[in-house]
Parts: sequence; C-alpha cells; structure tokens
Amino acid sequence: MAAKKPLHNTLRDKAEAKVKKLPLSALDLTMEKARVMMHELEVHQVELEMQNQELREAQHRLEEARDQYTDLFDFAPIGYLILDKKGVINNINLTACNLLGIERVHLKGKPLSAYMFSGEANKLLLKLRKAFKTGTLPALELHLKRNGNKDFTALIHGIVVVGGNQDNPLCRIAMQDVTELREAEALQQRHEDLQREKESIQQYNEELEAIVKKRTKELSEALEAEKQINEMKSAFITIASHELRTPITIIKSSVILIEKFKNLGRYDKIDPHVEHIKSSINNFTAILDDFLSLEKLERDAVRVKKENLEIPEFIKDLKTEMEGILKPGQHINYYHEGRTEVIQDKNILRHIIFNLLINAIKYSETDVTLRTQTLNGTLTVMVKDEGIGIPLDDQKNLFKRFFRAKNVKDFQGTGLGLSIVERYLDLLNGTIQFQSIPGKGSTFTITLPQDS
Ligand code: ADP
Repeated sequence: MAAKKPLHNTLRDKAEAKVKKLPLSALDLTMEKARVMMHELEVHQVELEMQNQELREAQHRLEEARDQYTDLFDFAPIGYLILDKKGVINNINLTACNLLGIERVHLKGKPLSAYMFSGEANKLLLKLRKAFKTGTLPALELHLKRNGNKDFTALIHGIVVVGGNQDNPLCRIAMQDVTELREAEALQQRHEDLQREKESIQQYNEELEAIVKKRTKELSEALEAEKQINEMKSAFITIASHELRTPITIIKSSVILIEKFKNLGRYDKIDPHVEHIKSSINNFTAILDDFLSLEKLERDAVRVKKENLEIPEFIKDLKTEMEGILKPGQHINYYHEGRTEVIQDKNILRHIIFNLLINAIKYSETDVTLRTQTLNGTLTVMVKDEGIGIPLDDQKNLFKRFFRAKNVKDFQGTGLGLSIVERYLDLLNGTIQFQSIPGKGSTFTITLPQDS
C-alpha cells in the first residue's frame, strides 16, 4: 500500500487545483501588482508553514498526552474497570486484566460475574443495582477466579457516571487484590489467638499447679494425722498393756490376800489391802478417763457449755471427790481471793483442775496447795506441791502427748494428762504455765477469762 501523503501536501494540491481553475486573463497584472502579490503570497506561505508547524507540534503533544493517559490507565497500580448496569465489562485496564489472568480482548463485553463463584456473582449484581440508584458502589470484597492461578480476594468500590449517554450510565470501579493483606491479617489474628491461648494455658497450668500444691498439702496433712493416730494407737496399746495391768494385778493380789487373812481370821490385816484396791481402782479410772478425754478431743466432740459457777463451792466438791486419792497424811489446802462467781464450763474446768491435783498428789508426799483468784476479769488457779519436781531438760517437753519425765519411772501414768489440760484450756481461751525445781516441788498456774 502507498504511504499516506502528509496533510499539508494534500492541502497544497487542492489549493493549486483551485488556482488553476481561475482564468489568468481575469487578473489585471502589472509588474508592480504582480510583485506585491508575490510578496503577499510568500508571506502567506510562510504563515501557512508556521501554522502547519504549530499544528504538527500540537498533534505530537496530543499523541504524547494520549500515550501518557493510556499508560496511566493501563499500568496504574490498581485494577480499573467500567461496568454497565448488567455488570458487563465495557473497558478494563491492563492491571485488572492481569489480576483476572485474561487478555483484554477476551474480557471486553463479558460480564464480570463470569469470573466469580455463583454466590459472589449474585452479591455483586445486587450491589451494582443499588449503586446505579445511589450513585456509589461502597467498598466490598469478592472472591474472583484467576485464570491459571489461584483465586484471589478483590476489594472493589466505585462510582456511577452518566456521561454523554443518558440511557447507558456506567460504573467505574477500582479493584485491588487484597489476598495477601487478608492472609496476613488472618495470620496476625491466628497469632494473637495463639498468644491468648498460650496465656490461658499458662494460667490454667498455674491454677493446676496451685490445686496440686493444695491437694498435696492436704494429703500430707491427712497422712501426718493418720501417722499420729497410728502412733497414738500403738502408744495406747503399750500403755494399756502396762499401766492398766498394774492396778488389775494389785487388785487381784489384794483380793487373794484378803481371802487368805479372812480364812485365817486375821481381819486386822485386811484394811490395808482394801486401801490398795481402792487406789488401784482410782488409777485405773484415771487412765481410762485420760483416754476417753483424748478421744473426745480428737473427734472435736467436746462442746463448751458455760454456766454460773461458785468457785469455792465447786472446789469443795472436787476436794471431796479426791479424798480417796490422797496419800495417808496428805491434804489439799485451799484458798480463794476475789469475787467468787465466774461463768465457765464446769465440766472442763473440773477436768483441768482434777488433772493438776492428781499430779501434785501423785508426785509428792506432803500437802498440796490450791489457790483460786478472780481479778480484773481473770480467773487464776494455782496448784502447788513440794514433791519430786521436774528435771530441767525435761521441762520443755512436758505438754507433749505421752511424754513422761525420767524421774517418774516408779509412778503410774500415761503422759497424757498435761497435753489434755492444754487442749481443754485452748477451748476455754486459757493458758498454763509452771515453775519447778527438781527435788523441791512444782507450781502449775492456769489463767482463764472469768466470765466469757
Ligand atoms: P502422767 O500421766 O505421766 O502424770 P502428765 O501429762 O500428767 O502425765 O504429766 C507429764 C509429765 O510431767 C509427768 O510424767 C511428770 O514427769 C511431769 N509432771 C507433771 N506434773 C508434775 C508434778 N506435779 N511434779 C512432778 N512432775 C510432774
């Protein structure tokens, strides 16, 4: 095909043709006029050439601008497409074509929904319908198919423009691939979830550890308690076999002797043995009492029952009760100071004082002093003897269950009395102290609230 002639050449041909048609005779040409005309023509020609040049430059600039806009449209970092009311692609830039993985020629004239999964396509059509009413397509995310590659998530938004064709408004849509962004966000979310999970696992572990610790402590306490009970049981068996056997042996031999003396008619010899039997029974009862008290305390079965108590009267009864236990020639000398009335648990108080008096009687040969005093809301009871006393290095263990000092081997006892006294005093909010000089005697002092 012949090369196209430049525009100005074509125009010149046309002009020359026109001039040729003009009859030369019509021109009244003098030389002068011809010269002027010549000049005019030359000027026109220059002018025309200049205009021509300007036109060429303008055209060049237009072509450049067009190229720039094409470049801007096609290679924008964002996908751009123009859809009509039915969602058909009127135009699409190269970035959007690349996103869909399909060439522009195949995309133009096709509905965008063709590159979507059915649910998504309906979503787009609904939104588009709304956009053509309101003028804007608010941002929405769609799942699009990408030819030959994995699907992608597109974030689209757009505006509707009416433009020249009133009947065919168009929606200009910007489209961005946000797959990686969403994946990163999901990853971040998962990371945060894991982090939270990790914290809660840590918290759970800590709680579990605390429970295990608590449980271990409870178990070891239970084990310790059981160990103590077992120790107590074996101590009880030891004591029962030794201590309870002694009074029974004494009773048995005394009964045999009494029978013998009776058969011989020696009634004068009987009395001391009757006394032996009495004191053995007392011992036996005291030991049983101790065990019963301890067992009740262990079971937490001792209930405090406070009542009005006339102290001197209460002690008088107790003294009478103890007369059978006193050794020959031994007395309890009693003194009271202060108000006589207290509010206390009579039974528990009786047990406490009884235990202290028994010890004082048992570990001495001479009189025992008992003092009671009420002062400033406190009841003080003091039991004093002048007996064997307590060895200094045994004093610290005195209140331990089953403990007996090394100087009492020849005396009957269980080593339970003082520990029971201490437990009873706890129930009454009282305290106990003692002073003792070996070989000289001991003083035990208890203090209790007088009336609460
Ligand atoms: P026990 O049944 O052996 O008397 P207690 O618990 O009553 O048991 O007393 C513990 C130990 O304290 C006694 O074995 C004894 O060594 C010592 N003891 C208690 N009271 C006296 C006292 N008044 N004089 C000397 N020692 C005492």
